[in-house]
Amino acid sequence: MSDPLQHQDAGRTLQKDLLSRWFDRLAHAPERGEPVAYLFISGNVGEILANFGFHLVYPEVNALQCGIKKMAGTFILKAEEMGYSPDVCGYVKNDIGLLHSGNRSPMGTLPPPSLLVCNYSGCRTYVKWFEALAEYYRAPLVMLDVPYRRHDAIEPSDIAYVVGQLKELITVCERLTGRRFDPDRLREDLVRTARAEEYWSKILHSARRVPCPYDAYFEAVFFMAPLYVLRGTQECLDYYEAVWREVKERIAHGVGPVPEERFRVVVEGPPPWPHFRAFWEMFKNWGVVAVASTYSKVGGLYDVGVRHDPERPLESMAEYCMNCYTNWNLGLRRDLIRGYCEEYGADGLVIHSVKSCRSFSVGQADTREVFSNEYGIPTLFIESDLADPRYFSSAQLRNRIDAFFEGLEHRRLAGRASGGVAP
Ligand code: SF4
Repeated sequence: MSDPLQHQDAGRTLQKDLLSRWFDRLAHAPERGEPVAYLFISGNVGEILANFGFHLVYPEVNALQCGIKKMAGTFILKAEEMGYSPDVCGYVKNDIGLLHSGNRSPMGTLPPPSLLVCNYSGCRTYVKWFEALAEYYRAPLVMLDVPYRRHDAIEPSDIAYVVGQLKELITVCERLTGRRFDPDRLREDLVRTARAEEYWSKILHSARRVPCPYDAYFEAVFFMAPLYVLRGTQECLDYYEAVWREVKERIAHGVGPVPEERFRVVVEGPPPWPHFRAFWEMFKNWGVVAVASTYSKVGGLYDVGVRHDPERPLESMAEYCMNCYTNWNLGLRRDLIRGYCEEYGADGLVIHSVKSCRSFSVGQADTREVFSNEYGIPTLFIESDLADPRYFSSAQLRNRIDAFFEGLEHRRLAGRASGGVAP
């Protein structure tokens, strides 16, 4: 019998092809004399750099690749041998260790930067990370100071402040590459960006369905990558069209990421990359599906309407920079998570607190209290790390996860027995 899902797994296989083609182009940039820029995912300004022919390197993507391929532990130890403290973010130490081990990432050898753009949306560690790289590579460093989202609405002065810096960045790029800025090309790229963002937003919203057609944490981390590294390109747009087709097909056939959806959760925090599969299995065993996650919003809160706008290119880029999850204040973050729990029909909230990342972990213990005690939303708080394998305690995590879902199951059965509404 033929498989009824013609587009099954297109999201992941296409993603792999896309990323390996991206890396191939990147790896050969130096021999073709083409410039390379390093920048960060959150609030990235990739379309401006692409305007000048820069190939883009995202050190966080290298770090998570090293994590998932189980190479991060060695690089982190290397950085600690060099004097980096155990308290320093695992992504940073992975990158420093990688750099001092020949820069051979799981995808291949990384080319050195012609320019470093530190777009530090929500994370001050970025600053020290890129200062270290600038010193090592002797490469020019541009800092984009992105104001924190402190109010419900963004101040016009904040937008003007970031736009002014984007114009300065354009001047630096013109000087470094000898090329003129092409505003028409930026607008064309942003048309494709906005369309890809629209597809991604539809995919994220499709998780409201029961059964949920995809896992909005464990699968979303694969689906979101092209929008982070290839935004503005036709291949990125084609990718999201293909993933949307796949999701629609799953919906039509009532197929989800687990054979039987038993629990729906919202997940806060990044995944433990070195133990990604084992961690996912701990949830799958209980028929758990993540219906929304905050980690899938680190590169932009598209699901709540954030969009690049070709008619307001720099202004909408500035707004985008401020609207990445870790650049939101704690009140906005909590409202967002609470809204997810209601909108996506979640049975509970899972907070995966990682030791490395204060941008995420700050306030999470208080968030747990607020959700459990004030909002009455069952909340599981577990800890490990996103890069450092030493902080992943499999038995301890499994015990906590099992106990949480046993508790949810018990409440559900008790609710049914008393004729009440299941929690
Ligand atoms: S602290 Fe968090 S956001 Fe900052 S570099 Fe590390 S992992 Fe990234």
